[in-house]
Order: sequence, then C-alpha cells, then structure tokens
Amino acid sequence: MKNSREDKKEENIISVVLPTYNRFDIEIDHGQGVYAYDQHDNEYLDFGSGIGVNNLGFCHPKLVKALTEQASKVWHTSNIYRIAGQEKLAKRLAEKTFADTMFFTNSGAEAVECAIKMARKYHYENNAPERYRIITFAGCFHGRTLATIAASGQEKLIKGFGPMPDGFDLVDFYRDMTKVENAISHKTAAIMIEPVQGEGGIRPVSSDNLQILRNLCDKHGILLIFDEVQCGMGRTDKLFAYQHSNIKPDILCTAKGIGGGFPLGACLTTEKVGRCMTTGSHGSTYGGNPMAMAVGNCVLDIILEDGFLDHVEKMSYELRKDLMTLRNKFPAVIKVVRGIGLMLGLKLSIEPALFVKKALKHGLLLVGAADNTVRLLPPLIIEQVHIDEAIEKLEKICAEIEAELPKPQPIEEE
Ligand SMILES: *Cc1c(COP(=O)(O)O)cnc(C)c1O
Repeated sequence: MKNSREDKKEENIISVVLPTYNRFDIEIDHGQGVYAYDQHDNEYLDFGSGIGVNNLGFCHPKLVKALTEQASKVWHTSNIYRIAGQEKLAKRLAEKTFADTMFFTNSGAEAVECAIKMARKYHYENNAPERYRIITFAGCFHGRTLATIAASGQEKLIKGFGPMPDGFDLVDFYRDMTKVENAISHKTAAIMIEPVQGEGGIRPVSSDNLQILRNLCDKHGILLIFDEVQCGMGRTDKLFAYQHSNIKPDILCTAKGIGGGFPLGACLTTEKVGRCMTTGSHGSTYGGNPMAMAVGNCVLDIILEDGFLDHVEKMSYELRKDLMTLRNKFPAVIKVVRGIGLMLGLKLSIEPALFVKKALKHGLLLVGAADNTVRLLPPLIIEQVHIDEAIEKLEKICAEIEAELPKPQPIEEE
C-alpha cells in the first residue's frame, strides 16, 4: 500500500510521453515473422500486425536488406531533387491500378489530407469553387489531423478540438447507398469512403453499393475517394479492395501496409484530377524519401510475386471457416464473423477491450474496433499452422469468457 503523499504525487505527475494512448504494459522488444517477443521474452502470435501495418511480418529478410542497403547510400534528399525510387514505385502502382499519378506521404492522415485538397482544387480549377464539401460516412476513420477528424464527424475524435474545419457532410453507413443522393448538393465536391471500414468495426461496403456511389458521382460530376489506408496493399487479397468490384475511384489514399512498418503513404489519382495539382500547390519534406521508397518498392515486389495474393485468399478462406466454427461453438460470445481477405472482425457480446486483454494473456495479439468488434489483421504471410494456433488460443479465450458471463436466470415454476 502506498501512502497518501505518494498517491498524490503520482496523480499530479504526467508521463513524459503524452497519455493519449491507453497502452498495454508490454513492450515488443523484437519480432520474427508472425511472432513478437516482449522485454521478458514472452512470445506472442501476432494477429494485429501493429494495426494492419506489418503485413509481411517482423524482419522480413528482403525488407531488412532493402532498408539497410539504402541506409548506407542516402537517407534523405529534398523533393527539390529527383528521387528515382518515387518514379519507380509510382510507375508500378499506376500499372496495377486506375491511377496515372500520385503523391507520397509519411502517413495515412497525410494521404487523406492530400485527397481532400485535390478534390477541392479539382473543382476550383474547373470553375466551380463552390464545390468544396465532402460526404463521409458514420463510423468512418480518416486520421487525426484537424481536417480528417472533421471528416469523421465523430464526437470522440473531435470533442474539445473545435472549431472544426468546415466542409464535411456525414451520412449514415447505409445498407442502401442510393440514399446518399439526398446529401448531394451543388456544393458537393466528393464522396469519401473506406471500401472496408477498419476502425468502424470491419464493415465492408458491397460491390453493388460501390457501384451506386460511382453512378451518383458520375451523375453529379463529383469525385469518388476511397480511403484504403487500412484495407489496401493486399489486405483483402487484392492489391486494393476496390478491385473486388468493377468500378474505379478518382482518388485513392493508402498507407499502413504499403511500407511494411516503415512510415509511408500515398495518394493516387487520375490524370484529370492530378493535373490540377500544379507546381507549388502541395509538398512534404519527408514524403517519398529514399528510405521509404526502397522499402515500398520491396513490399510491392513481394505482394506482386506470383501466388502471393492467392495465398492471402486461401488463408482467408481457412481462417474464416474456422472462425465460423468457433462462433457456432460460442454463440454467447461471438455474434458475427465478417470481413474480407485477412481483414476479419468478430462482433462480440462483450467489450472488445476485455477480449483483447484476455488474448494478450494467452499470447495472441488482436486489435479492438468500434461496433463491439475485435479485429484479426494477421500478417499476410501466415500459414495454416498459425491459423491453427490462433484458433486454439481463441477457443480458450472464448471458453473463459463464456464461463464468466452471467447465467440466464432459471424461470421458477409456480
Ligand atoms: C489508420 C487509418 C488512417 C490514418 O492513418 P495514420 O497513418 O495513422 O495517419 C486513415 N484512414 C484509415 C482508413 C485508417 O485505417
């Protein structure tokens, strides 16, 4: 027991790092492949990948090589010089997507900021400066900058940080996206959506609904922005999630998995939109730096290898199948299994934070999300043995939780 003076002292002292995160009391000291090891050398099976970042696991030998080789050549050069790695990565991403051009950033929020600026600039350059508003969806997450929290419209993100930048119109995450048309006005510049909501609780948007949004954008002359910061780069077993559908966005933001753990993001677009971003209209000191480009090109090499995305699809099938079995076994704990590729969610009957905490004790790293969902975002390199191990741990976790759930009261007979 501490005395009251010590208690008081503790209360008054802020940690030297801002307390903005509710952190687990472990430190991941090192990792190898799908396994993480804490400071006491306890082993964890990683089904979180950071939060969908370490898509190729820890210390992938090719990534380590690419980074260390680049480290002995050049770390930084300003964007006032040509950066060969940018030209190479951009050309390769353009070949595999709708995009003709792109801007490299250091994070997801910066990629979304770039998308917002581009959408506004596009209409400005096309003599419609009144078109500056962007439609976004309940439960969305686009980052933590002022504009991106304003885009989310979520109380828990914006409270205390007002006034918010103007220009976002939040609508429901409709089952039927034709309803979005009601929110379109002569001021609308774009519709921005995550093809699979991540933080919102692994909520995929159907191909039909993406098609509806595309049609609305075409009809009203507005731009379609996909935020694939979390669902892009192979996470859903396509390079980008939109490639499950038959439509294309005008702008796409990606980050997280693109650097395999190195800070990197990108905002991709078409020639039509990109030509509005004239010299001097945007910039970043670190965006697209040589280190990030070396890693980014290497990540793409691996994702585009023959059979890589097929492997993701196969592992997804196996994991989903086992998760469905688990749900049938523990219906009082797991309500729904959802998601695509290796972006899967379990909608729970309990607080996801409790589930994640228990999982940690069992040596399994998971990530919580909104809508009572726990996320499974394993590295895309998992094998069947890792799925088996995860399921074994999940069974134990569910059994423990089930035992702790309040028992339904027996109905007394008269
Ligand atoms: C994580 C995330 C962001 C923000 O990325 P940061 O790198 O944290 O800025 C934006 N959009 C989505 C969909 C995300 O999952």
